[in-house]
Amino acid sequence: MKITAVHVDTLELEYEEPFVIASSALAAGPCDLVRVETDEGLVGYGEACPAYEFTGDTLWTVQDVIGEYLGPSVVGKDPFDVEAIVRCWERELFTVGNQAAQAGLEMALWDLQGKALGRPLSDLVGGRTRDGLTEVIAWGWDEPEELAAKTRTARELGISVFKIKVGDAPERDEQRVAAVRDAAGPVARITVDANQGWWDAKTAVAAIKRLEPYGIEFAEQPVRMDDLAAARFVRERVDVPIALDESVRGPREALAAVSAGACDMIVVKLMKTGGILNALKVNAIAEAAGVTVMIGNMGESSLGLAAHFQLNVALANAVHGDADLPSRPAGLKRDIGVGLRSERRDGVSVVVVPDAPGLGITVDQDAVDAQRVSRRW
Ligand SMILES: [Mg+2]
Repeated sequence: MKITAVHVDTLELEYEEPFVIASSALAAGPCDLVRVETDEGLVGYGEACPAYEFTGDTLWTVQDVIGEYLGPSVVGKDPFDVEAIVRCWERELFTVGNQAAQAGLEMALWDLQGKALGRPLSDLVGGRTRDGLTEVIAWGWDEPEELAAKTRTARELGISVFKIKVGDAPERDEQRVAAVRDAAGPVARITVDANQGWWDAKTAVAAIKRLEPYGIEFAEQPVRMDDLAAARFVRERVDVPIALDESVRGPREALAAVSAGACDMIVVKLMKTGGILNALKVNAIAEAAGVTVMIGNMGESSLGLAAHFQLNVALANAVHGDADLPSRPAGLKRDIGVGLRSERRDGVSVVVVPDAPGLGITVDQDAVDAQRVSRRW
């Protein structure tokens, strides 16, 4: 099978509500939809969800980088040669940054592989070690009363895990976490993510100590991304595990983080690693160091989320996962992928990971056409 063409559509996927965190405020999700065509008629899809504050990618840099560099480098190649293709991006194109662009295109290659073999992506990366993923919902910097109301609604839907964005003034963080704990009840699981917002180590320690009484499971990215010594300082002084997200993009940062003793968990996102192959390498480094991984996401549509979920059900070391669904409260107004769903198991909402070939997602072309945007500057 040979790749004959690569296309990128630039979309903005409108949210039901703006999503505000320490490092950004978004009313719509940037989405580069990558379509790879082959001489056998099979078409693979990938999604880049650029997050400037993580990797420097934007909606338009992804389109330019794939259009000018990465796309032409794969035309004529076999999508099964993903290791050689990624090595070419690194050692022949000398690609710097642009992980979201790499991830979007690489994802489409795995989608093609799965479709060619008639197997879901999870079967290509080790097979499934778990059956479904406990659904998670993420809350941004809303007013505590709003969070409480949304949490009660989510509980009625069976959602049992709440990820709360913190990294604001510590008393505001505490008010939000307290409101969610009160509304969610004692059994619900709560995690917090500061997105570097506490910045320095001593502020982070004080903030986490305020939140520990509310039964938080772990705290994510308490300090700025490039300060592993600060992360270690925090880790040694609080009781809850520390997860690093922004600090770890690919395998090199993973090695640095575990070598520094800076974390108990690494958050793996394809938009940071530059694709599935590097995500597997990050996981291998973490697992060898006794560090677990959480498969996160950047708020992709069902297409990009499915890639993360397929990886999550396969990796035994992925003990946590941000398995959130775009259809949930405050999610996407109009998803571009069809194929993800949830079901209740013992009262708990579980995301069912599709077992259709590749990512297991069908692209809704009408939804794509309705949300396409053109360059503003
Ligand atoms: Mg995070």
